[in-house]
Amino acid sequence: MLNIEIISCLKDNYSYLLYDKISNIVAIIDPSDFSSCDERIKRKYNKLDYILNTHHHLDHVDGNKKLKEKYKSKVLGFELDKDRIPGIDIPLKEKQNFKIGNASFEVIFIPGHTSGHIAFYFKNEKIVFTGDTLFSLGCGRIFEGTYEEMFKSLNKLKNLPIDTKIYCGHEYTKKNLEFCLEYDSKNDFLKKKIGWVNSKEESKSPTIPVSIEEELKTNIFLRCNEPSIKNALNLNNSPEQEIFSKLRDLKDSF
Ligand code: ZN
Ligand code: FE
Repeated sequence: MLNIEIISCLKDNYSYLLYDKISNIVAIIDPSDFSSCDERIKRKYNKLDYILNTHHHLDHVDGNKKLKEKYKSKVLGFELDKDRIPGIDIPLKEKQNFKIGNASFEVIFIPGHTSGHIAFYFKNEKIVFTGDTLFSLGCGRIFEGTYEEMFKSLNKLKNLPIDTKIYCGHEYTKKNLEFCLEYDSKNDFLKKKIGWVNSKEESKSPTIPVSIEEELKTNIFLRCNEPSIKNALNLNNSPEQEIFSKLRDLKDSF
């Protein structure tokens, strides 16, 4: 059993602390800043075996060097980003499997937000860490890739088993929900989420994790083939990819 703890960092980032009890292995995903992460690590385990990065942006790797120095951890990141991930020790390949104690993850290559973005998929645990590619009710901005790449990457995640739990890089759910409602206003699943998201915000608790199943019903970026959404955009006859690009543009200025 892999234990997962959410660490809130910076303004709206999430780092995730992983612990495999049987092997006593500790890992962290995307340490955004040293002090928030170290405070928790020190208190709970006082060790850190691995640092995993989904992509090279500073708000996901800024804790790397100091944590590595303090705990002698190994840093893992995608091979294409070996010059951009601070302190990288183990460059990962697409579809590679890697063991974290008794658990193991597969590397899913999901470019678009950045050219070297990856997800960590723990198949047996039914968990995926999606960084800044798939958020709850949204997706990341396209900085280094093409719309087509991002669309394909989201499709890879969309096709994971529906009971897979998504742990993403930011708490953007509230703002994403507002955007989804704008173009998918008749979606009852979405409407039902309003109260829940508001209560999470009030109690300052994360809306993470969410399941793929839930996202398929509510995340507009995974629903580009829905006739009602096409209609709301006045693009009834456009292919799914074009709907996605249009929505991504609209979201950029939302
Ligand atoms: Zn990013
Ligand atoms: Fe980020």
